[in-house]
Amino acid sequence: MTSPEWLESWTADDGGARVRTLFAASFGDDGGEVGTWSAPGRVNLIGEHTDYNAGLALPVALPHRTWVALRPRTDDVVRLASAQAPGQTWETRLADVAPGATTGWGAYVAGVAWALREAGHDVPGFDAVVDSCVPFGAGLSSSAALECAVAVALDAVAGLGLADDDAGRAALAGACVRAENEIAGAPTGGMDQAASLRCTAGHALLLDCRPGLTPLESATPVPFDLTAAGLTLLVVDTRAEHALVDGQYARRRASCERAAEVLGVASLRDVAPEDLDDALARLDAEPDAEVLRARVRHVVSEIDRTARFADLVRRGRITEVGPLMNDSHASLRDDYEVSARELDLVVDTALAAGALGARMTGGGFGGSAIALVRSADVDGVVAAVDGAFTEAGLTAPGFLLAPPSEPAR
Ligand code: ADP
Ligand code: MG
Repeated sequence: MTSPEWLESWTADDGGARVRTLFAASFGDDGGEVGTWSAPGRVNLIGEHTDYNAGLALPVALPHRTWVALRPRTDDVVRLASAQAPGQTWETRLADVAPGATTGWGAYVAGVAWALREAGHDVPGFDAVVDSCVPFGAGLSSSAALECAVAVALDAVAGLGLADDDAGRAALAGACVRAENEIAGAPTGGMDQAASLRCTAGHALLLDCRPGLTPLESATPVPFDLTAAGLTLLVVDTRAEHALVDGQYARRRASCERAAEVLGVASLRDVAPEDLDDALARLDAEPDAEVLRARVRHVVSEIDRTARFADLVRRGRITEVGPLMNDSHASLRDDYEVSARELDLVVDTALAAGALGARMTGGGFGGSAIALVRSADVDGVVAAVDGAFTEAGLTAPGFLLAPPSEPAR
């Protein structure tokens, strides 16, 4: 393995050709028409563990995408193959898909068809294959990329027309969230699917996760012109183990819900930054006050940082967001306790090598970190991080460049 290792994205031609070849090898030609679709992974600039607290997040779509080749069937059978799960062909009847009844990676795919049916859409069975250059389980949302590629594919073959405008895309995102929560059994918030379906090239997406907002109110594109600012968004896949389906994520979520209940608010979004001290004092009587206070401190301050980050970007002051990224990382590490040794090492090393800001991104416990770097300094930061991992005896990380890219199509 050459060092440092770059994780390149595929061109549209390459991604499409890969899944068409795999489809022919897996399911052959029955005369039906095979289409191809793709959807991006995402990287979150700031606003972590805020989506399920009705808060704000600011993701961008990666150039790295998951590709799907799909052919509708005349019955309700689903047959799947993935280049990332060789030899594990997956099959079900759509009528058998239900919460708790569907296991394996196919749950992310069949779950989308199930959720669209639950929403009243007439979705047929299908044969499909997938291939992806989104790193797996790296906090860059390969799961949402898979769901969202399938969602736009089913939207097209069922003639739903939802992918044609942002309101319809918000509805598709909702179906993908249900697939992930109820069929795949991962209790994630809505950020990943909204990012993959609703981000646009050259923009970050300011997501407002308050329930009841219209699609227009819930997501605002924010021009994010890194090139004009002479900056590069560097993503480091630490390859440290991360598993959101295990108990940690659910436990953080439960703490937030309990704190909101004690404080008498619908969600922690309703605690204004200026009322934080007062809210923390009101948690003092709880048996696990220290933990609850720390979780609330993170969520309330993180929502505020996200608003301030978006505001700086809107005013063309991208070079000034670094301290907000660094504060976000410290809060996730110390108050939310979801960082990992590898993530801290990326952040500390990147900052020492001249990054303007750095933080863990995604759910945490491993996964990826980001650094905002002057373009001229990228090679130096990459060499420093790569060297630090070698010195610490850790598995070599993977490096990605993240120009804000296209949504699912
Ligand atoms: P992340 O979304 O951060 O990459 P998750 O644990 O949420 O990590 O999702 C990873 C899971 O999604 C994999 O374990 C697998 O079940 C499923 N998955 C994602 N992409 C693919 C793919 N291309 N082929 C098969 N399964 C996939
Ligand atoms: Mg995921």
